[in-house]
Amino acid sequence: MAATFHLAATLPDFDAVDVEGIPARINALLEEARAVVARITEQGGEDWDRLWLPLEEQADALDRVWSPLRHLHAVRDSEALRQAYEAVLPEWTRYHTELGQNRALYEAWKRLAERQEQPERRRALALALRDFQLSGVALEEPARSRYAELRQQLAELSNRFANHVLDATQGWVLELESEAELPGVPESFLALYREEARSRGLSGLCITLDLPSYLPAMQYCSDRSLRRRLYEAQVTRASDQGPRAGQWDNGPIMADLLKARHELAGLLGYDDYAELSLATKMASSPDEVEGFLLDLARRARPLGQREMAELQAFAREVDGDQADPLQAWDLPYYSEWLKRERYRIDQEELRPYFPFDRVLSGLFDIVERLFGVRCVEREGVSVWHEEVRYFSVLSGDEEVAGFYLDPYARQHKRGGAWMADCLVRRRRADGSLQRPVAFLTCNFSPPSGGRPSLLTHDEVTTLFHEFGHGLHHMLTQVDIATISGINGVPWDAVELPSQFLENWCWQRETIPLLSGHYETGEPLPESWLERLLAVRNFQAAMQLLRQIEFGLFDLRLHRDYRPGDPLSLPQAVLDQVRAEVAVVPVPEFNRFQHGFSHIFAGGYAAGYYSYKWAELLSADAFAAFEEEGVLNADTGRRFRSTVLERGGAEPPEVLFRRFRGRDPRPDALLRHSGLTTEAEEAG
Ligand code: ZN
Repeated sequence: MAATFHLAATLPDFDAVDVEGIPARINALLEEARAVVARITEQGGEDWDRLWLPLEEQADALDRVWSPLRHLHAVRDSEALRQAYEAVLPEWTRYHTELGQNRALYEAWKRLAERQEQPERRRALALALRDFQLSGVALEEPARSRYAELRQQLAELSNRFANHVLDATQGWVLELESEAELPGVPESFLALYREEARSRGLSGLCITLDLPSYLPAMQYCSDRSLRRRLYEAQVTRASDQGPRAGQWDNGPIMADLLKARHELAGLLGYDDYAELSLATKMASSPDEVEGFLLDLARRARPLGQREMAELQAFAREVDGDQADPLQAWDLPYYSEWLKRERYRIDQEELRPYFPFDRVLSGLFDIVERLFGVRCVEREGVSVWHEEVRYFSVLSGDEEVAGFYLDPYARQHKRGGAWMADCLVRRRRADGSLQRPVAFLTCNFSPPSGGRPSLLTHDEVTTLFHEFGHGLHHMLTQVDIATISGINGVPWDAVELPSQFLENWCWQRETIPLLSGHYETGEPLPESWLERLLAVRNFQAAMQLLRQIEFGLFDLRLHRDYRPGDPLSLPQAVLDQVRAEVAVVPVPEFNRFQHGFSHIFAGGYAAGYYSYKWAELLSADAFAAFEEEGVLNADTGRRFRSTVLERGGAEPPEVLFRRFRGRDPRPDALLRHSGLTTEAEEAG
């Protein structure tokens, strides 16, 4: 029997959201928050309940209005929601900037931290003080004003970089008269290109530089010169090269960004921007990250070279001299062909074996066996769309958390998949406990024509990934909001639980739990299972080396930058990195860095390595299950109590060590990527 549904009372009522009234409501709450901050800093004292809790209380009250608004804006957007969201955003940002600059609050919390004995409170305060310092609160004039100026400048530069990439991506299109110009491209993609032309009021076909349009042509079109034109347009976007050379050129913006970042790091007392970026991450120093990436590169390169030689040999075999030597614009084409030849697997053909409900019940089954929690659907909960379902998470008879699941793509819903918090776990001022609730959002194809929603294996993996984030948020046992769940977890460790859970989509033992033909119920046939597992490692070393190239470039760019030194400019750094790690040809005109939005317009500056770093952690954590049993309940409970329940309450390296009994090692990542075998690892 399901436990009593206590959380029902704390969930938002989506039918009663007063969209027009939200901006006024949030402004009032922000005013109250300012008053709370003023009271805290005026009254002094050294008591947690008076110096910390009132602000946490107020932040939670704000979240209860803000988080449904932000969520609805993403999943059921409307003109009214967009207006409310845009009306709130500037005030919201202003309040948080103000808070980060509040010297009196910083001093008050510093005093509080000095007298704090309780470990979790100490941790929450330490992180808060660190963030205060990084927002320049401790600076004296004129550094303080200069800091604010640089922040402003950086925000504008990043924004211009992103706009240039967008304009350049949309500013070029390949127009074709007939499909005869696209030999080899399957009909489904030709239809896409015809549709693209129609939407532009043109006859014939159009290929754009957006990946879903660009990639199929690169993978299937046998006309080499056409592929070269597409490739050149793609990799010269926003640069001094290619068909739109000089238009939207991001070169000067990158130079300005690097200069401003370097100065900002100096103001805060760091040698370089890489050091500043790592101040909030698990990795301890830029050199440690470099060592990590170079070590992976060293191990991956021999296999990468073999994969490249194999591809060259295959291309020569099927196309003779015209495919020798292979150029950058030939790689996607021959790779796709080789993959089809070798594995004969098509994601689309797997769909009937992965009906959504079957996958979901398999996921719940696995999670119950591993972590001892059950997911039980609840009826009668207010939701924002009829497709949305709500589940309670039960540990024994205790209702520990809940989540909304919004599985299907539809109009006015943002694409992609993500986990966001609706409520965070925290101890309220009256001593009662607020339980965590998550929003899980995906964009799978909805049921249609009497068929249920059918997933590709990639989509199955996506569901597990997001559910991993969800478990991190929901199983936390920490009582302070800023370090409970994924809060306070460093960026390079936050993908540990999510990538970790993906592993159960790739096991011989567990795939049968997740799959069953939607008509016959029969599990995925053995031969397909074999091919699915085999294709996972196709060109794994080449892909790994590409990620290392980006990560190393990003790290060195921010670590080695010196004003006025031409060797520390992007092209020089990238050339050097490629000489060390790349195994694929790159033409002279390639300006990849001019479109590298992750690091120039997003939050990944000196942090791109995080993807691989977290993957190493998740692979090594999963290796414990390979050693002790993929569905071993003891190992699962141990992961729950050491990692999932502790969230940001302790540094991730400490939690990892507690789970694994040692520091992380790269062996499992290398083996999972097909770079070593179990035998080699033992030797
Ligand atoms: Zn993720």
